Amino acid sequence: MPDRLVILGSKGGPALRPGGPWPSSSLLQIGGRSIVVDCGLGVTRGLVDAGISLKSLDLIFITHLHSDHVLELGPLIHTAWTAGLATPVGVFGPPGTGHYWRRFCQAMEFDIEIRIVDEGRPDIRDLVSIGEFGEGQVVAQGGLTVSALRVEHPPVTDCFALRFEHGAKSVVFSADTAFYPPLADFARGADILVHEAMLEEGIERLVARTGNGARLREHLLASHSFAEEAGSIASDAGVKRLVLNHLIPADDSLIGEADWTAAVRKTWNGDLTIARDGLVVGLSSAKAAAGEETA
Ligand SMILES: [Zn+2]
Ligand SMILES: [Zn+2]
Repeated sequence: MPDRLVILGSKGGPALRPGGPWPSSSLLQIGGRSIVVDCGLGVTRGLVDAGISLKSLDLIFITHLHSDHVLELGPLIHTAWTAGLATPVGVFGPPGTGHYWRRFCQAMEFDIEIRIVDEGRPDIRDLVSIGEFGEGQVVAQGGLTVSALRVEHPPVTDCFALRFEHGAKSVVFSADTAFYPPLADFARGADILVHEAMLEEGIERLVARTGNGARLREHLLASHSFAEEAGSIASDAGVKRLVLNHLIPADDSLIGEADWTAAVRKTWNGDLTIARDGLVVGLSSAKAAAGEETA
């Protein structure tokens, strides 16, 4: 299994629009592990389309509990279970992740109980272990290490950037964050930095077509990064490739890849990928990382 990153959902925020991209989720395959990072709506479909057998679901990380990152966590695991999942799944998320999972199982109690009795399935509640984490090392197992950095995403305080390392490979996800300089140290030398991004000229149009526009603008400016700021972090960190993700706006017909590129090129000269759903970024070697394809 080649090491790779697959962007399953590339938009920021929970809204869906006709033909538009899905909210946040990614698949990271590294050192023989398949790791799901965030579970926005569409993660299950995205994994299947990326060629993943749901039965082999293994590790899931949630950066924070905003719905565009966690809404489909329960439905993903449940769908994997009905597809034959019989091996343990480790879910790592901020405080409150266990509460979400227990309440999800309660909400689905009728279906869970009936499938255990009627179809002889193992108890889904026994298959899933939840690890709630704060800053620092989250996981160290079989050569894989994962560490977390609290980032700036008010009013959410438990929002964490994640760094995945295996052998000499490393991939960092910014999570949702305003410009946060300590992220550069955290992402130092990574093969890939996946950083969230907004585009200034698109924000006003987005605010205009959304109800509650003034509050939305306030939230966006306080809690998210402009593409230029993502580029600064990548430059300071000296990463090998920047992937702009969690795009806001992601579905404005007047904004295309060239606009994102123009904004980020003010602060970043290195390898650059603008995320879109299904995009694959290779991680097998520094050379291969430059090649990308659409899944
Ligand atoms: Zn988000
Ligand atoms: Zn968020």
